[in-house]
Amino acid sequence: MARVLVVEDDQFVRSALIRHLTEAAHTVRSVGTALEALREVAQVGFDVVILDLGLPDLDGAEALKMLRGITDVPVIIATARDDETEIVRLLNAGADDYLVKPFSVEHLSARMAAVLRRARTSGAGEDGEERVIRVGGLAIDPLRRQAELDGALLDLTRREFDLLAFLARRPGVVVPRRELLAEVWQQSYGDDQTIDVHLSWLRRKLGETAASPRYLHTLRGVGVKLEPPQRQRPDAPR
Ligand code: CA
Repeated sequence: MARVLVVEDDQFVRSALIRHLTEAAHTVRSVGTALEALREVAQVGFDVVILDLGLPDLDGAEALKMLRGITDVPVIIATARDDETEIVRLLNAGADDYLVKPFSVEHLSARMAAVLRRARTSGAGEDGEERVIRVGGLAIDPLRRQAELDGALLDLTRREFDLLAFLARRPGVVVPRRELLAEVWQQSYGDDQTIDVHLSWLRRKLGETAASPRYLHTLRGVGVKLEPPQRQRPDAPR
């Protein structure tokens, strides 16, 4: 079913969660601190994270912010405080849903199903293969935030990944710089250099240059497009 990371410092709650989730055929890993959680999500791909807000090392909002800095994995926050202001703040900070303790197994299952369904729809099909975006030899998995080129895993920063995924969703379409800034950088204005710098890093990782592009094409003054490399034709006019 789903790969779940349980972040909970209370041993009793933690064992109960692990037992219920395992019984529901999920694969579960669990940690007791926010820092361990950050290390886990950086190393292992999860489908959903259940995050306790009362952790010994980091404040819940802080933990969520740091998680969001490295992954788009759906996060369900579990809180003992039924505090509407706090919950709204966390939902705005990138939590996908919340549960107020003590919660029932049924409640947890329903929230998890809803969050997983949303994550899958936004990533395309139900099937694991379909949600991967493919352009030429590129395979981009938005859920796992992984990209491969010709079967080799690319080591991308968060921004490089976002940029690549954004362009790959519209292969062959010239995306204006303004739109890239708004969608990838979430800025309404900015320096063109920001985009250029990230593009050049991304190009290097894709093994190409601006002078001889394969996937990434810059149209001066217009924007950027990503498309599968043109086949080399020996008889093509130079
Ligand atoms: Ca706790």
